[in-house]
Amino acid sequence: MKNLALAKLQSLALANTLPHAWLFTGAIDSIKLDAAKEFSKWLLCTNKGQAACGVCKSCHLFAAQTHPDFCEISKQSDKLSILIDDVRVLPDFIVGKPQFGSKKIVLLHPADAMHKQAANSILKNLEEPCGNTVFLLLAKHSQLLLKTIVSRCQILNFNVTNNESVALSPDVAKMTTDLTALWVYKSATVVQIVEQWSKQWPNEVLYWFELVLADLIKFKYTRESAEATGVIAVLDKVLTANRLWQMLARLRQARYWYATNHNPNLQLILEDLLLTV
Ligand SMILES: [Zn+2]
Repeated sequence: MKNLALAKLQSLALANTLPHAWLFTGAIDSIKLDAAKEFSKWLLCTNKGQAACGVCKSCHLFAAQTHPDFCEISKQSDKLSILIDDVRVLPDFIVGKPQFGSKKIVLLHPADAMHKQAANSILKNLEEPCGNTVFLLLAKHSQLLLKTIVSRCQILNFNVTNNESVALSPDVAKMTTDLTALWVYKSATVVQIVEQWSKQWPNEVLYWFELVLADLIKFKYTRESAEATGVIAVLDKVLTANRLWQMLARLRQARYWYATNHNPNLQLILEDLLLTV
């Protein structure tokens, strides 16, 4: 795992000192969710090394979203909050021993959308930890949760500008420079950039792009950047806040589409993103 936050969780788990309740905070939901799932898969893997093995029965069940020791709770798509009915599965899940390894995991997101009744019900579980269940709660800000919940959780910050929790990548810096060539200096074309990016990062390109946009948006409002501020400041001059938000919205749509489409064409997705906004 590249990420320092995840490395911290791993080392606590390996030392058998992993606290039972965690709150992942940070503005970008997909970053927290990806991290929580990566860590869950690793923790449940019965053959783990630095990463989950990907081939054991536990890893297969996790990939198929049918792992009996993993319980993901989110809000129903037609509801605004996580309701008491959504967390009713918990007592049955928590009782009893894990079926595979030594841990069970409850992943709950967005925790800041929990209805009060649901939050109170979760609170009971957090107050009386059951030795083998780990809770991962994800929220944009800890301030949006009941204080009593926050006080029982270890907080891990996944804001992309927090050097301590998210390892900044040279890939993000490279992408930022490429965008400067495209949009500021006009020394590269969309076709060139797309060809390069899809070759260089066949799997992570949309993820890096989201980090770059998040950084640009942060800079727009705070004049601070996680990356080389000089390059970001140059890019910032040609991008309005409106354009940045539109791009971020389109990018998130594209990420969803890419993840759920059986035969996605990455080059088309990228061209669409870079050309149309
Ligand atoms: Zn495995």
